Amino acid sequence: MRYLKQILQHTEQVLIREVADNIYEICRQYGNDIFLIADENTAKLLNKNILNKVSHLIIPATPVIPARDYDGSQCHATWMTPNRLNRAASLQAVNLVRNKAKDSDLMVAFGSGTVNDICKYASYLEGKDYISFPTAASMNGYSSANASILVDGYKKSFGAHLPKAIYIDTDIIANAPLRLTLSGFADFICRSTVQADWLLSHLLLGTEYNELPFKLVRNLEEILLREHLALAKKDKRVVLLLMEALLISGLGMVMSKGSYSASQGEHMIAHAIEMVTQDYSSSLHGEKIAVTTITMANLQEEILSIRNPITKPITLDVKHITQCFGNTEFIKILKQKQMMQQKIQEIICKEWSNISSLIKQNLLSAKHLQKVFEDLSIPYLPEHLNWNKEQYCKVVNLTFATRDRFTFLDLAGCIEKS
Ligand SMILES: [Zn+2]
Repeated sequence: MRYLKQILQHTEQVLIREVADNIYEICRQYGNDIFLIADENTAKLLNKNILNKVSHLIIPATPVIPARDYDGSQCHATWMTPNRLNRAASLQAVNLVRNKAKDSDLMVAFGSGTVNDICKYASYLEGKDYISFPTAASMNGYSSANASILVDGYKKSFGAHLPKAIYIDTDIIANAPLRLTLSGFADFICRSTVQADWLLSHLLLGTEYNELPFKLVRNLEEILLREHLALAKKDKRVVLLLMEALLISGLGMVMSKGSYSASQGEHMIAHAIEMVTQDYSSSLHGEKIAVTTITMANLQEEILSIRNPITKPITLDVKHITQCFGNTEFIKILKQKQMMQQKIQEIICKEWSNISSLIKQNLLSAKHLQKVFEDLSIPYLPEHLNWNKEQYCKVVNLTFATRDRFTFLDLAGCIEKS
């Protein structure tokens, strides 16, 4: 974890050791009145004594979907939304935790994505410190300052804060449900499509770009791609390398002052699909990202292979956007993007060969990514997640208008494909 020690400024420490048995003593270093959040699955990993010593909330287990590789138990618990399954952290959950934790001076997350997001956002709103005990290498949000929260049926990213410390129990992380680990791998390996999109925006529009978050994970990415099969065997060394990569990826977002280094077109498509289907429960974040990463990788390759692209105006009607997403917020974004067109056309005309060769330098091929996902039984096509293919294609075509971020999704709409 040498990189982390060098670049951590806001979080005091990331420690790796057997922590589950010592969690109370660890927490006491940071506060006296501790409020701990876990879920039904992660609470089983705790030493029972701690629950007698600290205030706590055990949230119903994350609903688990049967899947080929999943080795956990099936559960159909609901969380604050009685009529539908909901695996995302909701604002109601955050408010409940805020009320219960009023008298505490330290909040503690013992779990993965949902537990962490609830704790991060609730502690931020209450102005309290929190520490994080990740229980799976399932996402890159442990070391990011943003929290993903479900509000009125929409998942939104809120600015929050970093934990005072992150403690990793190596046994817990290595033995986490395989599906969670593989989801984390997909959320990390989208680095390739993310970097291509972010660099494209920089080269075409002069937006800020920082290569450091990618440089910091380059070696780890090489090892993970080479030894990806070890993830399926829950090999402790390789799962911990993934965890390290995810933590650095989270910090990359702090360095980039936004999610730019970890979330571009592939995340936009996944969010757009969630918005259209209102389905946040039936697959894991990283599984959606695996599918959308393959879509983006193919799209980027196709566009980059055009030698002299001919640009055309965006002709999309705003009605399409509102009909598809049921949201008028995006009209403004579409209009802004239509205004950028002339500038983009000019630069493409003059600079395309240079731009495409710079972007190609850091690209993983769609074929390579697909092979790795296939090897690990990670879903990579919309039908693998039971997404309607026709609806998926329609959403992919309109996704560019859902965010003011410029990606290959924008180019797809304004380049003539021969
Ligand atoms: Zn992600």
